Amino acid sequence: MNHSPWIEELDANRIWDTLPNDNTTDIAIVGAGIAGFSTAFFTLTRTDKRIIMLERGLMAHGASGHNAGMLVPMFERPLHHLAEEFPAKLVAEAQIELETGWALLDEMIAVLDEPISYHRKVGYGGLRTLEETVAELENVKWEKDHNIPYLPIFVADTAPFLAGLKGYEGLFEIRSHEEILDLLETKHPEYVACTQEEFGVLNSALLCEKLLKHFLATYPDRFVLYEKSPVLRVALHEENAILDVGRFTVDADRVVLCTNGFEDISIVNKSGLDIDTRFHHFVSGKVGFMTAYVEHEERPASAGWYSMPPDALSLTPHEDGYKEIDAFIYTSRRPHPKGALVAIGGPDMQLEDRAQYDANMEYPLSAEQRISSAIQQVRDIALETKEGRYMWHGLMGYTPTGVRVVGVEPKNSVLLYNLGCNGIGLLPSLAGGKRISSMLRGEKLPRSLFDPR
Ligand SMILES: Cc1cc2nc3c(=O)[nH]c(=O)nc-3n(C[C@H](O)[C@H](O)[C@H](O)COP(=O)(O)OP(=O)(O)OC[C@H]3O[C@@H](n4cnc5c(N)ncnc54)[C@H](O)[C@@H]3O)c2cc1C
Repeated sequence: MNHSPWIEELDANRIWDTLPNDNTTDIAIVGAGIAGFSTAFFTLTRTDKRIIMLERGLMAHGASGHNAGMLVPMFERPLHHLAEEFPAKLVAEAQIELETGWALLDEMIAVLDEPISYHRKVGYGGLRTLEETVAELENVKWEKDHNIPYLPIFVADTAPFLAGLKGYEGLFEIRSHEEILDLLETKHPEYVACTQEEFGVLNSALLCEKLLKHFLATYPDRFVLYEKSPVLRVALHEENAILDVGRFTVDADRVVLCTNGFEDISIVNKSGLDIDTRFHHFVSGKVGFMTAYVEHEERPASAGWYSMPPDALSLTPHEDGYKEIDAFIYTSRRPHPKGALVAIGGPDMQLEDRAQYDANMEYPLSAEQRISSAIQQVRDIALETKEGRYMWHGLMGYTPTGVRVVGVEPKNSVLLYNLGCNGIGLLPSLAGGKRISSMLRGEKLPRSLFDPR
């Protein structure tokens, strides 16, 4: 079972086409998820190029239809960790670029005929220990030192480790323990501190569908989407690429891979060194598991993250193929026609090879038990009593650095990427799409953290 509430909101009667003949275009975009649609949006609005978008399955049925739906302008790794590996200037600039995702989203939504809302607010992350709190304070400190807007951490006046926070004055505020528990919507007294993060909740699949309608109405001569049209092979030449789409081919001046990693595409570089082998080993996969239920009362949007002791999820590594599991869970609540949709996620499964992922695989009982036990412990929510549950999973593509790859392939500039690092990929996809459109316009951009290496 893979039943996502986001896919359920899509138009089940939408008519789709497959690639009907050999074709030519300025830009071929491979992959019709949020990264593909963002790339198309900024290319259509900022250039005069024609686009053919090719999708292996149906649009927005990949990670963009199977996520937690939280918009956060963040990296997978704390900024101060990234700064140990990359120049601080690049890290700070990249963080500012992610923050532009909010304005880019507003720009997209403003042109749509049918509105879509995303409920931007502040969410809270529950912390239990001195170590967890100091780790978060280090991040806030880095943000402050590099002129990045930050929100202070709240620490309870009763926290047993207050004396250990010397040196971090100005980066945290003392609050009553009750207030912290209220913000976290928990009664569990071990949570004595919390982070604050700006977040939004968005159905990214629905945004893709609305963008598609807008593109077809506004740019009928410049945009076309072909679904059930997998790209099998890309042959890169000096000035164009030929995409093998089974019975037919597409000849494009440039090709942008928005595939959430590299999936079943063989890349032949007729004009330079091998790209294929290197890239196939570049993006690894993680499968994330989610569940949701509908509360039959109107409640405001909210989001929460909770650290958990590693043994609290009663995880048994290597059982059922689980090889790595993060010791935290997250929840979000968003308005829903019947009240509010509460979504919960947490367990992740590491894959050696992304091709192992089967979108139709059954939802493992152990993942269900882990989410149930964790949310019961943190929020006293008894999932087994909730009716009409959604349970879904999706694939995330990770690069070794934890940074999304956006830009021109160094070995052949006909090929570009907007992919990878998908645990947090919604706002980064938008910023990536805008970046790609600048490159397609011929702008020379300064070096960035997102550059393919
Ligand atoms: C469980 C889970 C929870 C998540 N939670 C969040 C969250 O709260 N916040 C957040 O920011 N991010 C979250 N993410 C990540 C976010 O969903 C992704 O980063 C984002 O959707 C990626 O979009 P995409 O367009 O790159 O990939 P996708 O939506 O996967 O789209 C890629 C498309 O490429 C197509 N494709 C692949 N190969 C080919 C081919 N050969 N030919 C043609 N088409 C091809 C695929 O079929 C797919 O439709 C989560 C992901 C998961 C799985």
